[in-house]
Amino acid sequence: MKWTNWAGNQVARPETVADPADEAALATLVRDAHIQGRAVRVVGSGHSFTGAAVSNDVMVRIGRLSGIRSVDRDAMTVTVGAGTPLWRLNELLHGEGLALPNLGDIAYQTVAGAISTSTHGTGVRLGGLATQVRGMRLVDGAGNLVTACPSENPDVLDVARVAVGALGVITEVTLSVVPTFLLRAVEAPMRLDRVLGSLPELVGENDHFEFFWVPHTGWALTKRNNRTDGPREPLPRFRGWFETTFMENVAFGAVCRAGRLVPSAIPKLAKALPSSGERTYSDFSHRVFASPRLVKFYEMEQAMPIDAAAPALTEIKAMVERKGYMLNFPVEVRFTAADDIPLSTANGRVSAYIAVHVYKGMQHEPFMRDVEDILRAHDARPHWGKIHFRGAEELSGLYPRWDDFMAMRDRLDPDRTFRNDYTRQVFGA
Ligand SMILES: Cc1cc2nc3c(=O)[nH]c(=O)nc-3n(C[C@H](O)[C@H](O)[C@H](O)COP(=O)(O)OP(=O)(O)OC[C@H]3O[C@@H](n4cnc5c(N)ncnc54)[C@H](O)[C@@H]3O)c2cc1C
Repeated sequence: MKWTNWAGNQVARPETVADPADEAALATLVRDAHIQGRAVRVVGSGHSFTGAAVSNDVMVRIGRLSGIRSVDRDAMTVTVGAGTPLWRLNELLHGEGLALPNLGDIAYQTVAGAISTSTHGTGVRLGGLATQVRGMRLVDGAGNLVTACPSENPDVLDVARVAVGALGVITEVTLSVVPTFLLRAVEAPMRLDRVLGSLPELVGENDHFEFFWVPHTGWALTKRNNRTDGPREPLPRFRGWFETTFMENVAFGAVCRAGRLVPSAIPKLAKALPSSGERTYSDFSHRVFASPRLVKFYEMEQAMPIDAAAPALTEIKAMVERKGYMLNFPVEVRFTAADDIPLSTANGRVSAYIAVHVYKGMQHEPFMRDVEDILRAHDARPHWGKIHFRGAEELSGLYPRWDDFMAMRDRLDPDRTFRNDYTRQVFGA
């Protein structure tokens, strides 16, 4: 069987593909693979741009471990199958009057896949998805079931929340939740200079602030999402479809295709992007956070100390102008709180994330290497699921708790059952 990730830049030809029906079948599968010295990798929704989920030996899919197992309204937690896609979890939670406190900008990922690469949204007072994890169960490298929660193996829980699939196959996750809430979204263009000059206020005064610099222009599209008591005023159905699905995906896709054919036309096309209008609406949080992504692209995203965002973006802009790169995707900038998870990209520091995108099928590596060189000088940490060119030696110096992760890997998977080329690149084995 041939497998490709969402973007199509990762390909695998696994010898065995397994869809275990339950935890016991999964444990047997991993135990047998371990005895035979085979390599196992789990794949979620395949939305990572890196080779994190690539498996050419045993590929495990856990789509059958899906759905809500239990809801604890006193603790405000839900326990879910680790293969539950976020879009489905959002709908199920909504039915219970509950919601996740924050999300990224899509909801196609599985719960386990999302937390494993330190997936995040934006909001400087909130951490990434892995900070919402209160417990989990996983199958270790020898096929043993491990429960990790505050009262049992808390040291495993501490580390395994972000582990790039290298500590075990997560089967179940307990997440903290909040009552359903409404978000009021204000989306408006703003001069980039103004955004960069007032970043602390924009970031501090909004629950969820992000912006997109439109290359070849001095403009940024800003997004401010704040909690509101209502009323709920979603975009009318046709307008929502037209602006979100049609303009941001179909029409944008056509603009990208034109730019791929004639790259020198990109600066002119950039000015035709839907960047001029302002819109305001309010809806349930999961409908505001996440939207469809139909135009395919390659992405690099790296996390840096928050004060580095403005200088790093200014340097990227100057580099793009100097080198004449033709970019048809906006550059996205987001923010999160610090956390204490060893491999979280926001470990120990309030973070800004800069993400660059290149339309699928266009050359991306020289540009992304140039961006990485700039970000490296700002102590940036690459997103585990997005294109980067770093190896274990460099990464180990970027994470103060690197050794805690390595010690846990030696404990849960000493024989490296969960290995592939990507783990060799980023962990050295
Ligand atoms: C269009 C698009 C938009 C995106 N938006 C965002 C965003 O807003 N914010 C952000 O931070 N990221 C974003 N990403 C990146 C994405 O969130 C991550 O790459 C995420 O890991 C993908 O989840 P997945 O379920 O597809 O996992 P996969 O990509 O399939 O796997 C990711 C990793 O998780 C491991 N894994 C999967 N399941 C398990 C399991 N059960 N147990 C142990 N390990 C497991 C895999 O082995 C692999 O190492 C985006 C990606 C795309 C393509």
